[in-house]
Amino acid sequence: MNLFDEIDQRKKDGLFRVRKTLDSAQGPLVTIDDNEFLNFSSNDYLGLANNEILKSAMIDAINEYGLGAGSSQLVVGHSKPHQKLEQKLASFLKRDAALVFPSGYQANLAVASALVDKNTVVVQDKLNHASLIDAARLSEGKFVRYRHKDLKHLELLLEKHKKHNLIIMTDGVFSMDGDYAPLVEIADLCKTYNATLIVDDAHGLGVLGESGAGLPEESGLNQDQLPLLIGTFGKSFGVSGAFVSGSALHIEAFIQKARAYIYTTAILPSIASTIDRAIDLVIDGDHLRQHIKTLVKSYKKKSNELGLKINESESHIQPFVIGGCNETVALSNELYKDKILATAIRPPTVPNGTSRLRLSITAAHNEEQVERLVCSIKKHLGEN
Ligand SMILES: *Cc1c(COP(=O)(O)O)cnc(C)c1O
Repeated sequence: MNLFDEIDQRKKDGLFRVRKTLDSAQGPLVTIDDNEFLNFSSNDYLGLANNEILKSAMIDAINEYGLGAGSSQLVVGHSKPHQKLEQKLASFLKRDAALVFPSGYQANLAVASALVDKNTVVVQDKLNHASLIDAARLSEGKFVRYRHKDLKHLELLLEKHKKHNLIIMTDGVFSMDGDYAPLVEIADLCKTYNATLIVDDAHGLGVLGESGAGLPEESGLNQDQLPLLIGTFGKSFGVSGAFVSGSALHIEAFIQKARAYIYTTAILPSIASTIDRAIDLVIDGDHLRQHIKTLVKSYKKKSNELGLKINESESHIQPFVIGGCNETVALSNELYKDKILATAIRPPTVPNGTSRLRLSITAAHNEEQVERLVCSIKKHLGEN
């Protein structure tokens, strides 16, 4: 099918995407066309995207280091804020070393491109984030997937391909379902099969773990068990960018070889400085993590009281699965009329027949706002 016909078909299938234009900073309340909306679609889980301390840190850093980094990291783009951030990350994550990228999408491509050769089989959970999937697809290796969190299926694939170099890549907290990968069990399988484990915990970082170091911290996985940990700064950290952390040998290899690291301009030094400060806020953010837990409980309790179906997720990501695309968009539109932003998530982001509202409950929300959300869903569900 011709590209433009294909796009036309998407309109008919309820798969056409329209961007909303926000007039305000991110937060639980945002402005669109002079109207205030209650926002349940943001990944700004700790409410740091409009934080005053971080904004001042960024302004100060801009005054000191200017705007652009000037070049890629290996030419002259690596400045003191970048260097400090790498060290801070390594100690925060209890890893030997860390490397900073402009985006999580790039971090995944970089890591896979450096590690995977023709003799490698990349094994992934079927519900992994698109950036992990693309990283495997664009690599030189073979790409196989196991059913979501199905350890038996994973082991079968490892057994089948055990003559090859094996790499397992998984989300930590799954981005669209909010459930957790069984990291300890996967790490054990990696040991048995001599496979390298890569976990991208973009959604768990900041929210899970005693110091906010994500699902790997909550699962107690050290660098030996989990050699490569990837995360992003555009979600809980409220800024942008990403990292990979692990052994000094791995990190040095990426600096030398990962094309998605080498051939891109370094992130702004001011962004590196701001992330550095954001890590402090994350580490000190236990009250924020506790507040999220309380709100998630309230969300579930209220949903239960109103007879809405409850999903399995215990996390800040709460999928409200409808099924069909058009029905999901219709519900999202009704909520929009109630001044609630709950974007419809449709294929290919999620499997066919599982279109949903993907609700994120953040530290910046309050009880009353969560109640308003649940009541509005209840009210409109009856009408669909
Ligand atoms: C959001 C996300 C990414 C992409 O990170 P960006 O910095 O936005 O490019 C990568 N991995 C996972 C699991 C994500 O959820």
